[in-house]
Amino acid sequence: MTKERRLKGIAVSEGIARGTVFIYETKKIEVFQTPIFSVYLKDETERFEKALDKTKQDLSNIQERINQETGKGFAQFLDAQIMMLSDKSIKEKVKKGIIEEKKNAEYVYHRVISDYAKKLSESKDQYFKERVADIWDVGLRVLRNLLGLTHSSVVDVPAGSIIVAHDISPSEAALINPKKILGIATEAGGRTSHTAITARALEIPAVVGIKGLMNKIENDEKVIIDGDRGILIKNPTSSRIHFYEIAEEKDRELEKTLSPYYGLPSKTQDGRHIDISANIEFFSEYTHARKYGAEGIGLFRTEFLYLTRRGNPSEEEQYRVYNALAKRMKPHSVIIRTYDLGGDKIFSDYHEANPFLGWRAIRVCLDDPDFFKIQLRAILRASVNKNVKIMFPMISTYEEIKRIHLVFEETKQELKSHNTEYDGEIQFGIMVETPSAAIMSSQLATQVDFFSIGSNDLTQYTLGVDRGNEKISQLFDHFHPAVLRLIQQVINSGHQAHIWVGLCGELAADPLAIPLLIGLGIDELSMNPASIPRAKMVLRSITIPQCEEIAKESLKFRTALEVKRYLRRTIRKKFPKIDEVIK
Ligand code: PEP
Ligand code: MG
Repeated sequence: MTKERRLKGIAVSEGIARGTVFIYETKKIEVFQTPIFSVYLKDETERFEKALDKTKQDLSNIQERINQETGKGFAQFLDAQIMMLSDKSIKEKVKKGIIEEKKNAEYVYHRVISDYAKKLSESKDQYFKERVADIWDVGLRVLRNLLGLTHSSVVDVPAGSIIVAHDISPSEAALINPKKILGIATEAGGRTSHTAITARALEIPAVVGIKGLMNKIENDEKVIIDGDRGILIKNPTSSRIHFYEIAEEKDRELEKTLSPYYGLPSKTQDGRHIDISANIEFFSEYTHARKYGAEGIGLFRTEFLYLTRRGNPSEEEQYRVYNALAKRMKPHSVIIRTYDLGGDKIFSDYHEANPFLGWRAIRVCLDDPDFFKIQLRAILRASVNKNVKIMFPMISTYEEIKRIHLVFEETKQELKSHNTEYDGEIQFGIMVETPSAAIMSSQLATQVDFFSIGSNDLTQYTLGVDRGNEKISQLFDHFHPAVLRLIQQVINSGHQAHIWVGLCGELAADPLAIPLLIGLGIDELSMNPASIPRAKMVLRSITIPQCEEIAKESLKFRTALEVKRYLRRTIRKKFPKIDEVIK
């Protein structure tokens, strides 16, 4: 009888899943140079042609399946990839290379596409830059076919599977179908890595950062994913299965306890209203936001519009999504955050030494105002609904805000000159997620209508800890006194300038943090939709003076651990009801 094994990782998406392992693996490809005898050169070019044909067939099959499962439009980026396989100049160059150099097809093909990708990545045009991801996606497929390796995609996952992977790239993550995938476990990643955010968005239990996972697990094994405790259990014993059946029952009970809060107003016991809104990454999630009683969308991460279709979405496509979201969320508001690609979100083939400190988010937009304006126009046009707010990520300087205002005003003028309507009163906000923005928040506050604190990045940049690196995940702590002091400073600066201040990082959903944030004066908390009922329950159990006392005490400590111990102790003692919903 095989022994049960528990593999510990980081709990990133709540819930329990039981299912069969599907290993999603993108093996590193090694290409060797082999001389080919003249008599075999023709065979070699034919082998190359066959690999192209097989790749074309593979892509058409995937496209067919995505269209059936997820709906038309989702698989559009595959059209571009299929077209690339017919690119005459690449084909001819490779065939010529094989014949003239007398080298193997994979070696020549790899070199040709590397050159091609390099040229595109040096282009100033964002559209061409983004084709690099497609070149590599297609290129690696062709190479795998030449080398006789299998390619796995999350699209191929059979229903009832638990995906086990080293990591899942953002564009693959965008193809995850929650109807088929019950749970996710990865070797890489942290609480705020992209896989984690996607899993939470799709309400799929997930554990990331499991060391050595890929060597410890095999396809078709039966496993349990415990997304609350951060463990994967291999070969669970019958008593373990029983334990989880009870846990699942408890989850259902908790849902019952919290469901009455879905529709209740988010008010403290002494009547202070705090907006509780939802973070969403896909349009369809507005249904979760509404179901759980969100009072608006506090963060619409628009990058998924770019990731799911590879090429940049047009103004019209974006407008349709923003407009529909604004309409569906009425009378509540929708905060649309502009392009925030970069770091873990940028396509895996765009390489930078330090992506999180690199060319990303607002930096990309300000470097390419034409590209930026496409999104600005789409958001402005949707603002006629009168409930749209715009928010800019990754601000690190005062000048950036000045420059955004210029482009934003120019865009408004252009719309006006075409008689296109927009909301002249649209609120203009920024994310405060770099230490420089937090420290300069009193100056920045004079330029904007609101702040939303991005505690995920603020923690990453303040502590100098990569938010997606599992090796140092124990150092990534939102309760670090340095982070808390910056949050306090931002809230105070905002209030002195009479603007509202929200928080939309993962900290907002933490029941330990909510009393502390309220005590610091936060006006809005935005979180993943499923956490909203619990946040409302916490909020409705506390009073402002109690929270102020908690905030004052919390800021006295030297370490994150001391802060958390104090919060746990206080909540257990003073608010036993909240303690019950802290897992
Ligand atoms: C954050 O940084 O806290 C945030 C909410 O944005 P994202 O997680 O999308 O970077
Ligand atoms: Mg951020």
